[in-house]
Parts: sequence; C-alpha cells; structure tokens
Amino acid sequence: SAKEKGKNKYELCTPALKDSLVKEMKITNSLYQALERDELELYYQPQLNILSGEIIGLEALIRWNHPELGIVSPGDFIFIAEKTGLILPIGEWVLRTACIQNKKWQDEGILNVPIAINLSVNQFQNTQIVEMITKILKETQLDPNDLELEITENIIMKETEYIIESLKKLKQLGVKVAIDDFGTEYSSLNYIKQLPVDKIKIAMSFIWGININDKDEAIINVIIVLAKNLGLKVIAEGVETREQLDFLRDQMCDEVQGYYYYKPMPAKQIEALMSR
Ligand code: C2E
Ligand code: MG
Ligand code: MG
Ligand code: MG
Repeated sequence: SAKEKGKNKYELCTPALKDSLVKEMKITNSLYQALERDELELYYQPQLNILSGEIIGLEALIRWNHPELGIVSPGDFIFIAEKTGLILPIGEWVLRTACIQNKKWQDEGILNVPIAINLSVNQFQNTQIVEMITKILKETQLDPNDLELEITENIIMKETEYIIESLKKLKQLGVKVAIDDFGTEYSSLNYIKQLPVDKIKIAMSFIWGININDKDEAIINVIIVLAKNLGLKVIAEGVETREQLDFLRDQMCDEVQGYYYYKPMPAKQIEALMSR
C-alpha cells in the first residue's frame, strides 16, 4: 500500500541522507542566483616543469562563495549545474573569466602562460561550443594558444563525433586540448588516435599509488611512454609528496601539478606569489 511505501521511504531516509538531500535542495535553489549575485570565483592552480620548477601553466577551478554554506567545491555543485542546465551559463562565465584574467596577467607582465579550463559533456550537447569559444577569444583578445580545454574520457565517449569535429575546428584556431583524469574512465586508445590532443593528465589515483602499489607505477610508466611516443605532453595531477615527485622525474614525466607545490588559490594569491 501507499502507506507502507511511504513508511519504507521514511525508513530509508537516514539522518545522513536527509542532510545531504537538504543540502542538495539548498544548493539547487541558490545556484540559480549564484551567477547574478556574483558568488562564483575561479581559483588557479599552477602547473610546473618537473625539471626547472618553473610555472608553465595554470588550471582554473571553480568555487562558489555561498552566503550560508561558505566555500562550496565543484564536486558539490557541478553535477547539479549539469542536471539543471545551469552549466551552460556557468561554463561560459568560467571561460570568459579565465580568458580575461589571463589576458590581464599577460598585459601587466605578471605571468605569461596558458590557462586551462574544465568542460562538461553538456557543453558539447546541442550547443555551438566552437562559436562560443571563438566569440570569447575575440572579445577578450586572449591568444588562442594560451587557452587549453580539459576534457575527460567520459565526455569523449558520449559525444565522440561532435567532439572530434569541434576539437578539430578549435585546434585550427590554436586552442590546446588536454585529456583530464586519463586512465580512469573507459579509455580507448582509439580516441587518442583520432582526437587532436596536446596533453595527457595522469589521474591522481595512480599518482597516489607511487611507492605503495607496483601496478600504479607500471600504469604511470606506460602512460608516460605512450604520451612520448605520440608526441604529447604529459602532466601528473595530485602530486603531494617528494617521493611521488622523484618517481615521476625518474620516469621522465614533463610536468606536475599538486599540493606538494601549490593548492588552487584566488587570483590575488597568484599575484602575490608572482611578485615574490
Ligand atoms: P579536475 O579537473 O581533475 O581537477 C583536479 C582536482 O584535484 C581539483 O579539485 C584540485 O583542487 C584537486 N587537487 C589538485 N592537486 C591536488 C593534490 O595534490 N591533492 C588532492 N587531494 N587534490 C588535488 P576541485 O577544484 O575540487 O575540482 C574537482 C573537479 O571539479 C575537477 O577535477 C573538475 O572535474 C571539476 N571542475 C572544477 N572546476 C570546473 C569548471 O569550471 N567547470 C567544470 N565543468 N568542471 C569543473
Ligand atoms: Mg581538470
Ligand atoms: Mg576532471
Ligand atoms: Mg583531473
């Protein structure tokens, strides 16, 4: 009966689940206003050359300064933005903000490196993504060579044809492409063959197995060799320790990103860092 169903439902709704549902509802309701209230912010995490330690790139990572909840991580709201379609205006805001910021840093002589942004699969579904990116590059005057798009294997799987076509057009403009979290999804070497990719980002889960699990080390080795043989750059994400760094250097990984060097930080902190 309905009553019994209701009862079951109630019993399944543990306090922890209820808390997380309430949080999700609060987030959904206030996410609609986050953009217009100017509550979104980009943090930037440096990427370094493993040999020289020089900063060679930045990844833009979104944060939401929520009036009640404080700083909300993308892991807690990007999926809601995707479900509600808000990822389209938010994604455009991310792109524009990152391009404006990078152009400003270049013009002011603060730093001159490419900036990477993350894309969701929805941004490739029934959208004019190539036109949108072209428009924003023109508007912000950022050199397309200084923009890198991070896409996951997940995205490629879902929208293969359109992705290949779109990325080829973007590539002609000079925009760079990186495969994020490489090795964690349904990796297909065939994608790497067909896609105009510049860089592979080795997923953190493998990096955290360094000195702990031989299998992770073997996988890292193979990813680096693959990247080299294909003429692609390779970066390790989530590097937290000296031991991980040493292993990656021995394996001739090109670049690193992780808490061992820097956490993602607000624009002001990047400026403070660069002026030291
Ligand atoms: P991602 O693109 O793989 O970004 C790496 C995540 O790992 C970031 O988490 C970063 O802060 C974190 N990280 C970096 N170094 C370390 C480390 O050494 N140790 C540990 N434990 N973590 C590290 P964050 O900022 O919470 O972002 C999570 C994910 O949310 C991102 O994963 C990306 O998939 C997504 N995301 C972030 N910003 C955006 C955005 O503007 N648009 C879209 N569509 N997705 C975004
Ligand atoms: Mg990323
Ligand atoms: Mg990711
Ligand atoms: Mg990643």
